[in-house]
Amino acid sequence: MSYDDQNIFAKIISGEIPCDKIYESEFTIVFEDIRPQAPSHVLIIPRGKYRDINDFSKNANNDEILDLNKSISIVADKLGVSEDAGGGGYRLITNAGKDSHQEVPHLHFHLVAGKPLGPLLVE
Ligand code: AMP
Repeated sequence: MSYDDQNIFAKIISGEIPCDKIYESEFTIVFEDIRPQAPSHVLIIPRGKYRDINDFSKNANNDEILDLNKSISIVADKLGVSEDAGGGGYRLITNAGKDSHQEVPHLHFHLVAGKPLGPLLVE
């Protein structure tokens, strides 16, 4: 499957659409979700053009993969939600493909925190 250059996160990366950025590095950007589902809800995305985690884990280079993974703990500590930073912990979610209800076809990890998050899946 090809990457849709017109997706909203591609426009955020290019600067065409604004976002509430909380962290950025060479290969990764982290910003607030526009419709937060928890007291803390941020999106961690690679700058590179990857549709989902399947595409990323297959095709991204090691620097991109390392950078995105490192950004998770950096951001969780910075937000104060990790147990290392004295918070209550967090959940990381990524949707891939139609059964997952992925809306935006650019890889993103949802980092949600700030309250007890309940069971993993709602039937
Ligand atoms: P998903 O269903 O996993 O693809 O999630 C897409 C997420 O992107 C949703 O939580 C939306 O609220 C969020 N979102 C959509 N547009 C924007 C935007 N312009 N800025 C920040 N978050 C957005």
